[in-house]
Amino acid sequence: MKTVAPPERFIDYDKSLACIHCGLCLSSCPTYLETGNENDSPRGRIYLMRAVQDGRLPLGDTAVKHIDLCLGCRACEAVCPSGVQYGDLLEHTRDHIEKHYKRSTFQTFLRRVAIEKVFPFPWRMKLALLPAKFIRALHVEKSLPKFAREALSLIPKDASEVKLPLVSPATVEQKRGRAGFISGCVMSVLFGKTNAASVRLLNRAGYDVVTPPAQCCCGALYAHSGQLELARECARHNIEVFEQHELSSIVINAAGCGSTLKEYGHLLKDDPKWAERARQFSAKVKDLTESLVQAGTCGQAAACHQTADAKVTYHDACHLAHPQRITKQPRELVRAVVEGNFVELPESDVCCGSAGSYNLTEPAMAERLQKRKIDNILKTGAKIVVTTNPGCLLQIRAGLKKAGANDVEALHIADFLDRAAK
Ligand code: SF4
Ligand code: SF4
Repeated sequence: MKTVAPPERFIDYDKSLACIHCGLCLSSCPTYLETGNENDSPRGRIYLMRAVQDGRLPLGDTAVKHIDLCLGCRACEAVCPSGVQYGDLLEHTRDHIEKHYKRSTFQTFLRRVAIEKVFPFPWRMKLALLPAKFIRALHVEKSLPKFAREALSLIPKDASEVKLPLVSPATVEQKRGRAGFISGCVMSVLFGKTNAASVRLLNRAGYDVVTPPAQCCCGALYAHSGQLELARECARHNIEVFEQHELSSIVINAAGCGSTLKEYGHLLKDDPKWAERARQFSAKVKDLTESLVQAGTCGQAAACHQTADAKVTYHDACHLAHPQRITKQPRELVRAVVEGNFVELPESDVCCGSAGSYNLTEPAMAERLQKRKIDNILKTGAKIVVTTNPGCLLQIRAGLKKAGANDVEALHIADFLDRAAK
């Protein structure tokens, strides 16, 4: 008798069964808010994952379309009363999709070459920026197809690269410790000045800052796009690099990277040689705002109190607010500077549509969410919107420009605080 191989198990079935179908996550899910389609909700997607694993649904265009449309923002995880580990289920499903589903030539090129072979490598990214500069200098943007115009609109004109020294000593007498600094791929090429501002803030807070030049991409881009083995390689490399320094903490100023760095322990949990080292590395990782608040710098920020009456608002980067549950610290820091001029942003923790490389792979939904975010920002009347992630900054800046809101500035929190201190 011919035996039929059981369907491949790619998600932890028990983790998927934790979903009790209560639907409490639906109103937090940006894609469900936009489409109203159950298949574009966390509950629907978990159902699709299980149906594919059980062999009740083929791994075809329909299932993949709804999984692809997920932002991976993990807003659902933060509100789930049943503790469903949606991010884990999603990463393993995406890993399975990339191994077994044949994408169109365009999507394959976009994901395997344009994104995965460029973004994680700063020198390649610098090379990739050259055509953008050329196109702008020639003023031929309008002749590009819509997709290329949208991608170009995300690239900042004032990209800055600042080489950080291996050690930047604390600039105050009261020392807090020795912090490793993750300079990031996108951050180091497009936001070098923001990295320098972050180091200055840490130095003023009493930290000696160590920035090892041998560090590589944190692996977030790979983990979120279904390339878990590549993400593990990045994790092993970074653990080895940072282990060479005596550090009390490892600081990151990009929310998306921070979330992955804090999950190295989970990523390498089944690797006996690396599991404990990864756990120890992750235990040291802190977002910049956590480190600053912990060091009591709200007082320093308050001393920089601005008297100008321009309103300031704050956009929660998904990977800071949801997986890391950090929402209070950045607000405390911003409020300390602007006091009564702080205004809450409606739907502040609804994704802006950036979501790593999502605005390239799913541009239509990214644009809808970008417009939603900009409409909310404009409703507040704020002249500055502060956030903590490079992707959000690029997406919001491009959206403000599209809306003609040239008097509203989007700033990384490090630049906002550093500017206030000057
Ligand atoms: S809130 Fe949690 S348990 Fe309820 S439907 Fe959503 S994922 Fe399932
Ligand atoms: S990760 Fe975000 S987009 Fe995906 S299902 Fe959860 S809330 Fe929705």
